[in-house]
Amino acid sequence: MGSSFKILGSGAGPGVPSFFCDCSGCREARANSRYCRTRSGALLRSGNANYLIDTSPDLRAQLVRENLEGIDGIFLTHWHFDHFGGLGEMEYYVKLDRKEPIPLYLPPSAVDSFHAAFPYLHDVLVPQPWEFGKTYKRGDVGITALPANHGIETAGFLIESDVSRLAYFPDTSGLPDVTKRQVEAIDCLICDATFSDSNWFPDSHMSIAEAIELGKSIGAKNTVLTHLAIHYGNPVTVEELNGRLSDLPNVFLAHDGMQFNLLRGADEDFTRK
Ligand SMILES: [Zn+2]
Ligand SMILES: [Zn+2]
Repeated sequence: MGSSFKILGSGAGPGVPSFFCDCSGCREARANSRYCRTRSGALLRSGNANYLIDTSPDLRAQLVRENLEGIDGIFLTHWHFDHFGGLGEMEYYVKLDRKEPIPLYLPPSAVDSFHAAFPYLHDVLVPQPWEFGKTYKRGDVGITALPANHGIETAGFLIESDVSRLAYFPDTSGLPDVTKRQVEAIDCLICDATFSDSNWFPDSHMSIAEAIELGKSIGAKNTVLTHLAIHYGNPVTVEELNGRLSDLPNVFLAHDGMQFNLLRGADEDFTRK
């Protein structure tokens, strides 16, 4: 089966297109579905097991698209709607099919919020606060929660196999020093690049230019830009963005369905889309 990491959704909170927006980027996505971005999340496959990283409000559509048969665990980066809003989808799966609850690893500070928001999921999800710096081994793959800068308690996840290291930080503004040390010279940094030009929320998100700079500063072999909004500030299309990135051979735009083989090391061929 192998092990892989797949981007389920590459959009920021409003998604692309946003229902309330008619900018050039949203028009591009309406005209061609391959430019659409569901809200951010990822799927880690280790052998036959499937682990979700975040459960966006678009989770059902993402799981149907991926033909997923089951979920073995969930890791949440933080308690913001665009990252937890799909948790309720697990009720039908657990009650009708799986018949046993799913472990839900989440920020310690989010446990009370989980119980308040989803009192009817107590027999569907078993909340287990993750610990920063602790590695959760799942098959051949290790998952480690590392601190991110996002206002509320937020992790990014370091995903390690024998031959490959990948870091997933969908919501962060730069990285704390303690995290930087853990992700130095990583094969692939997949990170927050919410803003296409000026950064409206410099304490909690990054612009594309800042994300590229972060990748450089930690010596990432590849930098993949995700949590893209494209229409804050000056709207931009994917075609325009790919043009801007064309002279940066190790920087890529994430897209929904983008997959990373964790058994192949750093020589991935991330096709531009
Ligand atoms: Zn967030
Ligand atoms: Zn977000």
